[in-house]
Amino acid sequence: MLVVGGIHGNEYSGVLAARRVLDKLALEDRPFRGRFVALVGNLAALALDQRFIDLDLNRQWLPQRVAKLTAPAGTASGTSAVEEREQRELLAALLRELETAQGPVYFMDLHTSSADGPPFVTVGDTLRNRAFALKLGLPVVLGLEEQIDGALLEYVNNLGHVTVGIEAGRHHAPESVDHHEAVLWLALAAAGHMDEKDLPDAASLRGRLRAATPGIPPIMAVDRRHPVTPDDGFVMAPGYRNFDPVFAGQVVARDKKGPVISRRRSRMLLPLYQAQGSDGFFLVRKIHPFWLRLSALLRRSGLPGLVHWLPGVHCHPEWPETLVVNTRVARLLPLQVLHLLGFRKLRWQGHLLLVSRRRFDTRE
Ligand SMILES: [Zn+2]
Repeated sequence: MLVVGGIHGNEYSGVLAARRVLDKLALEDRPFRGRFVALVGNLAALALDQRFIDLDLNRQWLPQRVAKLTAPAGTASGTSAVEEREQRELLAALLRELETAQGPVYFMDLHTSSADGPPFVTVGDTLRNRAFALKLGLPVVLGLEEQIDGALLEYVNNLGHVTVGIEAGRHHAPESVDHHEAVLWLALAAAGHMDEKDLPDAASLRGRLRAATPGIPPIMAVDRRHPVTPDDGFVMAPGYRNFDPVFAGQVVARDKKGPVISRRRSRMLLPLYQAQGSDGFFLVRKIHPFWLRLSALLRRSGLPGLVHWLPGVHCHPEWPETLVVNTRVARLLPLQVLHLLGFRKLRWQGHLLLVSRRRFDTRE
């Protein structure tokens, strides 16, 4: 089990929770198999209690960028960004742990948010991530990583490990630390490091998480992200908590162009109530478990490997494992169907949709 807390410097909760778990494991002599390592993310930003200093450390993990960091001295990009040094150190620590692991690695990235609201798990939608996430006693949100480029979670996922992100609640709230701690214990059991009976009261850990998420659907998917830049003059409407219902036509924020409106009925997620950050808000909707079962069946059927034979679909000429979907021809293949089959959106180019199979979907 490999955990990162505080990759955002105003999110100390994960660091505190990991420390609590490590202390209890050390002092209470509970039976434990394997290795549990917790790393601290952005040390410089944590010291100032701000999200980042020069660059968002959780948006710097695109493979090309990581390759530059590991290039021999003299060939590196050589910017003076504080986060470049932070990333180099964190990368070295991560790779050391991953390379010396004796078995499968479960990776968790621990976050909090500027909005209040119930805790949840976020995963890139592979069948392996899903199976693990569903054991952690929290609502699961699919597809957040598809909206964000360069997140650490996806980088580690593409090295072949099971990865989940935990949003535990509001920054600096004591409950957020409790939620992170409860999830860490349940995750240690889910990953096989501990038996449930050896956890500090598994039933009350689950009860605490259930009490924090009343009435929240167990599985949701991201419908939309509203990106913002510092020049947008973006101001979120006050008072939203994570998962608050939103109706079609509701004014959820304002920017210099006027009101920002929700197009359909959904739920609010991660509304931006802090100065730093490039995600204004996300909207999510409930997913019926039927669709999860169907997609597991389809992905194991080998069907996704045949999609490139369909009219209007071809393999990308340069990028491996990437398909170009002409949505004027392949009208029956909207993004939702491609999601079911285990593809992830890369980008739209006009009416062309670029997607790639999520790696390590069904196998290590
Ligand atoms: Zn964060």
